[in-house]
Amino acid sequence: MELETLLNHAPSPIEELTIPVARRKGVRLFIKRDDLLVLPAYGGDEAFSGNKWRKLKYNLLAARTGGQNRLLTFGGAYSNHLAATASAGKLFGFETVGIVRGEEIGDDNPTLSHCRRCDMQLEFVSRADYRLKTNPYTIQKLRKRFGAFFLLPEGGTNTLALRSCSEWADEIAAQWPAETMPDYICLSCGTGGSMAGLVRGLRGRSIALGFPALKGSFLRGEIEHMLRGKPAYGRAWEFEEAYHFGGYARFDERLIDFINAFYGEHGIALD
Ligand SMILES: *Cc1c(COP(=O)(O)O)cnc(C)c1O
Repeated sequence: MELETLLNHAPSPIEELTIPVARRKGVRLFIKRDDLLVLPAYGGDEAFSGNKWRKLKYNLLAARTGGQNRLLTFGGAYSNHLAATASAGKLFGFETVGIVRGEEIGDDNPTLSHCRRCDMQLEFVSRADYRLKTNPYTIQKLRKRFGAFFLLPEGGTNTLALRSCSEWADEIAAQWPAETMPDYICLSCGTGGSMAGLVRGLRGRSIALGFPALKGSFLRGEIEHMLRGKPAYGRAWEFEEAYHFGGYARFDERLIDFINAFYGEHGIALD
């Protein structure tokens, strides 16, 4: 598949959701269907979609332009970014290497088995070693071991990813009634790269409201760091920190019930 496919896509649709409790409070709720921005990956798995499409597109172009045919990246055993990178390799003809946090777990994890089906080479490292993933010495060792590669940081979050996430803002503005914008734009946050890009693109036109999937408020610092030099956006984003359900990839019955009920009412599968 040609990489240009990633650039020339129609805007993902915006749909209104009917939610009685919101309506009673005078809130209108819309959903931007980035889940419909999807390429069928290997064996019908749809692992290349949504913000991963956006975050990877300029990176894949940069890799191709730079003559790199191998991508190396990092992620946890349930990382959608790892799965998307593996799909990208299969779809666009890159070799892929995934450095996975924690001990090897069996093939029963759908994320990792998808990566394997896409021929991603997986390397499992201890949590202590994983923490050194941005250390230049670590990268140097990886280059010795795997040869030249295009480096994608954890979650695919880098300047090129922020650039394409910033495009969300104008895309939404073009779909929204002229001269107006939503009061809030809500999104889930892992590394916060999507949120930082969105805030940049919005330039204060809406407030970005992030829901971190991880415990702790360290993400504030990360976002501030990514927005450095743009202090004016300090008030243009907020976090709602009570919905991590114990951390990344954790869940309880309440969350599963909510996902199922939402699917039943709106036909949209939440992640
Ligand atoms: C990757 C991912 C996120 C987090 O994106 P960041 O840019 O790392 O914050 C949120 N939701 C879903 C469904 C994802 O796959």
